[in-house]
Amino acid sequence: MNKYPMLILDAAKLKNNASETVKRCREKGVSVCGVIKGCDGDLDVARIMVDSGVSQLGSSRLYHLSELKRVGCKLPLMLIRTPAPSEAYETVKYSDISLNTENETLILLNKACKEQYKTHSVVIMAELGDLREGVWDKKELCDLCLFVEKELPYLKLSGIGTNMGCYGSVVPTVAKMKELLSLARDVESVIGRKLELISGGATNAFPLVCSGQMPEGVNHLRIGENVLTARDLKELFRLEGFDFLSFDMFTLRAEISELKEKPSYPQGELGTDAFGKIREYKDTGIRKRALLNVGRADAGELETLIPKLCGAFVVGGSSDQLILDVTDVKEELRVGDTVDFTLLYSHLLYLSSRRDVRVVIK
Ligand SMILES: *Cc1c(COP(=O)(O)O)cnc(C)c1O
Repeated sequence: MNKYPMLILDAAKLKNNASETVKRCREKGVSVCGVIKGCDGDLDVARIMVDSGVSQLGSSRLYHLSELKRVGCKLPLMLIRTPAPSEAYETVKYSDISLNTENETLILLNKACKEQYKTHSVVIMAELGDLREGVWDKKELCDLCLFVEKELPYLKLSGIGTNMGCYGSVVPTVAKMKELLSLARDVESVIGRKLELISGGATNAFPLVCSGQMPEGVNHLRIGENVLTARDLKELFRLEGFDFLSFDMFTLRAEISELKEKPSYPQGELGTDAFGKIREYKDTGIRKRALLNVGRADAGELETLIPKLCGAFVVGGSSDQLILDVTDVKEELRVGDTVDFTLLYSHLLYLSSRRDVRVVIK
């Protein structure tokens, strides 16, 4: 018997997106780090990315990277996050390259390398306004790069990078990329050699590559979303011209545990819901509602899940259950039937990390 909720991975679609992304980047001299943090480091996804020609695999979670090492992954592994000082030893152990901004952590990474008879590559992150990780001051950035280059013999300065659109919602524009390039030229003149990597960002910088606007010299992107869900490009960024990308690489399938007609407006005195929120309810009369065995603890926000069942819509739910309005569904439904949902990146992020939600390959 199949157990639900379940995630169904369409391997062919994922392969299409990974290959198309790598190909389009390669044509413009941009290499790709395949980011697997959004699917809890799923090894099948990692393998498909490797087969598609990514140059590194990356994650923000060290345990994803340690698992890749354990199964013998030969590609360089990238920690796409600034490690905390206490993580220096494991960063060196499980990754080959990491993103950094802090002097003290770099010293600890250098020490960890010495202890483990290893070298480790670093990309120093520049802050271009999104206000998450990165060095804001230009002189500080150059000094930090020079420090790695001259004082930390076990570390290799691979290059500089930036990240946008994660906290500050700042869009990676041509101007921002030129700013990054200009910083790279400053660093190069301070250290007296060329940098190997100029890492321009994530999926949200990919449109610049496709439109041919990415300034020459930005030669690396770290891409996850584009391969895993790809819906944000179309629906959140409202970009056109990405018809070569597939959607619905992952589908959520959940099972109906109750099917009944009920009032749409709660009956009784109203307080707060299970999450302490005061919610608003609309009275639309008696409706037919299906209860499904997936909840906020599995998927995060339920209201943005899109059922692939014509006429159905999500009403809400709680930590372990979802309420679907099926009044206008033409098909005859029964308890025990399953309903499929299209996912956003955040849904996949939560669902994939549940140990009781299996990933099945289609
Ligand atoms: C998450 C992340 C990425 C990948 O982002 P996508 O939108 O999934 O492509 C790249 N770089 C950094 C620093 C990240 O945190």
